[in-house]
Amino acid sequence: MPHVKDITALMIKPSPADLALIEKAYTFTEKAHASDKRFSGEPYFIHPVEVAKILATMRADSETIAAALLHDTVEEGGATAKEIKQEFGSTIAFLVEGVTKLGKLKYQGVHRHVESLRKLFVAMAEDIRVIIIRLADRLHNIHTLQYLPPEKQRRIAMETLEIYAPLANRLGIWKLKGQLEDAAFPYAYPEDYKKVVALRKTKGKEGVKKLEKLYRLISREAAAQGLKDIQIDYRVKYLYSLWQKLKLHHMDVNQIYDLSALRIIVPSITECYQMLGLVHTLWRPVPGRLKDYIAQPKPNGYQSIHTAIFTADGGTAEIQIRTTAMQREAEYGVAAHVLYDEAGKPKKGGEWQKKISWIKDLIEWQKSVDGSEEFLTHLKTDFFQDRIFVFTPKGDVIELPQGATPIDFAYAIHSEIGDHAAGATINGKFVGMDTPLKSHEVIKIEVKKTTHPTAKWLAAARTTMARKHIRNYLTKGEKKK
Ligand code: MN
Repeated sequence: MPHVKDITALMIKPSPADLALIEKAYTFTEKAHASDKRFSGEPYFIHPVEVAKILATMRADSETIAAALLHDTVEEGGATAKEIKQEFGSTIAFLVEGVTKLGKLKYQGVHRHVESLRKLFVAMAEDIRVIIIRLADRLHNIHTLQYLPPEKQRRIAMETLEIYAPLANRLGIWKLKGQLEDAAFPYAYPEDYKKVVALRKTKGKEGVKKLEKLYRLISREAAAQGLKDIQIDYRVKYLYSLWQKLKLHHMDVNQIYDLSALRIIVPSITECYQMLGLVHTLWRPVPGRLKDYIAQPKPNGYQSIHTAIFTADGGTAEIQIRTTAMQREAEYGVAAHVLYDEAGKPKKGGEWQKKISWIKDLIEWQKSVDGSEEFLTHLKTDFFQDRIFVFTPKGDVIELPQGATPIDFAYAIHSEIGDHAAGATINGKFVGMDTPLKSHEVIKIEVKKTTHPTAKWLAAARTTMARKHIRNYLTKGEKKK
């Protein structure tokens, strides 16, 4: 049987109050699930404990961990929402309600599914910890999928790939995204999964052996130069993301340069550059592969130095250098801001709320839609697609889905600008209104009062927002005739 220490041992410097709260939630949960069993035949209680452990590893605060323990006590166990509020207060009660009552995303027809997703987003905008607990819950469920009937396995796997992993990605919680996808992959696409596993096995092993050698040399050299507190490890690309990349390269694994990479984590930015100097002194860098995402972060905020070097055997190896804080951000994204910071104190303030302003947009937007299918399509195309970041001439950042055109850009600024967009320039050059935009481009829209949306625009628009405005205009125009 599990023990409360399995959870608290994973926490960094919990206070006596933290420990008391978790012990209380643990005892409460154990009692509430006393007679429940999982599909596997195991005591149900093991599930909330595992979910709490995932969150403790992410350095979640004690409220989040307590809510994670309690998350199924109402729906699956013998507790009531009222009891939870009485025993644990309204914040924890809100988290529990957000995760369970609202979030039981049982796929029973598209309408009910969308309804519960909507509720989840509303709860999420209020307290983002709701979705972080939900993702951890899904991760444990998908790791125990083997006990479910096959048709359920596939449904849950697809839902994970289509909704939960993109959500984790959108929140920048890349570690959870990778774990969710890799756990769902074999159930969703069993044949492709086998192929990719085999490819990674043969090529990945070679890569790792090579990296082990580099690892020893770098550690020795860093110690000789007096660099301290350096962590070096290597990571092999997640299977599902490897598959996505392989599909772009005709399944040729030799085209994938970052299958395995050595990762060097140092305390400060200055040491990142010292380390880069050290690496480039030991080996010759591969021309064109040095990327300084510390000086120039990726649009999604990702920071790291990437380089590739020629190794003694004539091959190349990928090396990534970053600080401890950058590593944490890369693994946990939004979660890194709302959960505990380095010093072990909960972070207050609106930092994360800026990062999730899109959730509020989504809620605003869904109020104007009545069709469930449309909401789901919109979610998949606009919100979970890879994003690009472009600029207005004044330097304001506009975030759009990949493939967006000047039409989408114009409507993203203002519907009036969209409705009268007569032309566009990208970095000062005139382009067609159907030109796909790329990150970092500066877009300027020419406005003319006499210009109006046309059916052609509808074909060029990628975002639901632009399409909605154009469609509105076109149907209104027809009525006038
Ligand atoms: Mn659960």
